Amino acid sequence: MSKMDFLPYGKQFIDEDDIKAVEEVLRSNWLTTGPKVKEFEEKLAEKVGAKYVVAVNSGTAALHAAYYAAGLGEGDEFITSPITFAATANAGLYLKSRPVFVDIESETGNIDVNKIEDAITSKTKVISPVDFSGQPADLTRIMQVARDNNLVTIEDAAHALGAIYQGKPVGSIADMTIFSFHPVKHITTGEGGAIATDNEEYYKKLLAFRSHGITKNPDELMEYHGPWYHEMQTLGYNYRISDISCALGLSQLSKLDNFLARRAWISRQYNAKLESLREHLVLPSVKDQRVSAWHLFVIQVKGGTEERRRLFEYLHSRNIGVQVHYLPVYLHPYYQSLGYSKGLCPEAEDFYSKVISLPIFPEMKEEDIDKVCRTLYEYFGVIYNDR
Ligand SMILES: *Cc1c(COP(=O)(O)O)cnc(C)c1O
Repeated sequence: MSKMDFLPYGKQFIDEDDIKAVEEVLRSNWLTTGPKVKEFEEKLAEKVGAKYVVAVNSGTAALHAAYYAAGLGEGDEFITSPITFAATANAGLYLKSRPVFVDIESETGNIDVNKIEDAITSKTKVISPVDFSGQPADLTRIMQVARDNNLVTIEDAAHALGAIYQGKPVGSIADMTIFSFHPVKHITTGEGGAIATDNEEYYKKLLAFRSHGITKNPDELMEYHGPWYHEMQTLGYNYRISDISCALGLSQLSKLDNFLARRAWISRQYNAKLESLREHLVLPSVKDQRVSAWHLFVIQVKGGTEERRRLFEYLHSRNIGVQVHYLPVYLHPYYQSLGYSKGLCPEAEDFYSKVISLPIFPEMKEEDIDKVCRTLYEYFGVIYNDR
């Protein structure tokens, strides 16, 4: 069978406008951090309701920079969810701090707020909730716990660009919020990421961290030898994003609302069409006062491990590119070698044994949705009423 027939779980949408925007930069004098980066940061800040945005070259770099700006370092702990991409925890390891995994709520796959306080110690410095699948975590209560315990909140919103929580855009709530622009995410810059914040001090640290810890800002220099003069004041990285990437990001951002509407429409279709499989599947639900950005459409197979595996293989054999998000981070061999053990977060492990992410991306057509649904009905031996 040709590759064309394969339905991936996620995919970018690139049109002629995107291509033209990139071409324009290629014909200009600036390729790396220039006017397009600034413009992308400003537009994104407006979109997510933040005062400042710093764009970097991956979501992982954004996490690293945010943890750094929060002051996370050797001997510190940070609290996060095990149901996430490894980068959420890895970025803290880069700074020699220790991730503390708090179990999830099974309906949403998000961190269980009721369990956070028990995990706080005198070493805890940061809480990093993950908006799993695009649904915001319980941010009001997380922010409250953070304030009560003097912790910095860093929201991993790699799944949640465009999501809304109690009427406020994700990006305007936590102390810092990170996004990813990897091609499977809502908008893409090829590779890329960003940190949103209202805090000027974090903003300055993020800017320095992005570019070797070097500053040229006359107000910040410790000495001044002449117009050429710049100083490296802290140890930073090269996490700069290019103008090429940000031109693509700007063009993509102008389509974000359409992308979000498509994703919401697809999720409604799935929820309606899969209704009669509720005996076998748990369909995703969105809690009160939340608008999900629907990065993923995650179903839970009630039959558990073996059934999930059979269904996964069945769907793949029919060219439906489902995925599993996620193996609890601490079950990865590397984390096991750091001393985390199985059984740490039972809800997360149970969640992992049941979940399958169905294809969802803006270009998906109704016939694609029907193909996925029909195949699911076929697997469970239930007649599909194609509405
Ligand atoms: C994609 C993703 C990241 C990392 O983003 P990159 O841009 O791939 O580095 C971090 N956290 C979560 C939850 C993600 O889905």
